[in-house]
Amino acid sequence: MKAWRFYEFGDMRLDEVPDPEARPGWVVSRVRRVQPSITDAQRALGIGTINSTLLREQLEKHAPVQLLGHEMSAEVLEVGEGVEDFQPGDIVCTSAHVPCGRCIWCREGREAWCEDKLHVGINLPGAFAELIAMPAAGLVKVPKSLDDASVACLQPLSSAVAVMHDVDIRPGESVAITGQGAMGLYILQIARICGASAVYVSDVKEECFALSRKFGADAIINAREEEPVERVRELTGGKGVDIVFECAGGTPDHGLSGHETLHQALKMVRLGGRVMQVAGLVGEVKIDPVFMRMAGIRWIFPEGHGRDTVALGAKWVASGRVDVRSLITHEKRGIENLPEVFEITQNKNKYKATNPCQLVLVG
Ligand SMILES: [Zn+2]
Repeated sequence: MKAWRFYEFGDMRLDEVPDPEARPGWVVSRVRRVQPSITDAQRALGIGTINSTLLREQLEKHAPVQLLGHEMSAEVLEVGEGVEDFQPGDIVCTSAHVPCGRCIWCREGREAWCEDKLHVGINLPGAFAELIAMPAAGLVKVPKSLDDASVACLQPLSSAVAVMHDVDIRPGESVAITGQGAMGLYILQIARICGASAVYVSDVKEECFALSRKFGADAIINAREEEPVERVRELTGGKGVDIVFECAGGTPDHGLSGHETLHQALKMVRLGGRVMQVAGLVGEVKIDPVFMRMAGIRWIFPEGHGRDTVALGAKWVASGRVDVRSLITHEKRGIENLPEVFEITQNKNKYKATNPCQLVLVG
C-alpha cells in the first residue's frame, strides 16, 4: 500500500510499504477520508505541543515512520481473531487513543487518563495511508447514514461533547464562546442542545459569523469592532455569563489570540462562574489569584474523552442536531496531495478555512 512516512519533522514522503495484517484483536480498514488535526498540523513541523516528546522519540527510534492522522473515516476490511464488535463493511472512526483497559483509570471508566494508552498516529500507525491497522478497542462504529466528510470530524467533535460533560452545564445557564473556529462552532451547537438560555460568541474573523448565525448564536460580537467584555456585560445586565468556553487562545504565530481571550473570558464570567479552557494555551499565564478568589471563578480544563463521546457526537450528527459538514470548505482528492492539505490546515486564515482541509482517498 501507499503510506506517508516521516523521515524528520517537515520531511514527509509517500512510500510503498507492506499491507498491514489483522493480528488478533486488531482490525484492518481502508481509509476513505482523513484530515490533519490542528495539533497534527503543528506537530508535522516539529512545533512543541501535546505529546511532542513522544512523537520525537518515535521519529528518533523508528524513522521513516507512519505518523499522525487520527481524524478519519474508514471501512473495515478484515478483523483479527477475537474481534467481535466489528465486521467487514462497517464504517469506523477512532477515539485517537487506545486505552489499556487494566489500569486504575481504565477500571474507573476514565480512559482518557489511561496510564498505558496508545496514541493513533504516534505509537500506533496513523491514517495518512491507504490502509490502517488498529486494536479494536480504539475504534468506534458509526451509523452507515453518515457521509465520510462528517465521520472524519467525529473525533474533534467528541472533544466538544466531552467539555460539555466536564463543565457540567445545566439547562438555563448562559454561555459565551471566545473563538468561532471549528471547536467554537461545535460548542455553540452543543450548548444549545444542552439547554443554554443564551449563547454569545466572539471572534475577529467576520467570515465565520455566517455559521454562528446559522447555528443560532444569540449575539455575535466582532472583537475588531466591539469590546467583547463590555458587550457580554451589557447583554447580561452587568452580571456576566455563567460559563465561558475559551476557544481562541494559542500561539499568535498561527493566528490565535495568545492569552488575550483568556483574560477576556475571566472578565466576561459572572461571580462564581466557570471558564472552560478549550483552546490549548502555551507558555506561562499571568493570573491574579486575589481577583480569582474574590470573584470565585473556576478556571477548568477538559478531562479528555473516549469512545463514549465519539459515539454520542455521531448520534447527534446522524440525527441532524449537530452540523459538522458545513464547516468543511477545502478538500483534496488523491493520497499524493497530502502536502497541500497540510499547507491549507497550517494556514487556515490565509485560505479562509474553518475546518482542517480533508484528504479524500475513496469516494
Ligand atoms: Zn488504562
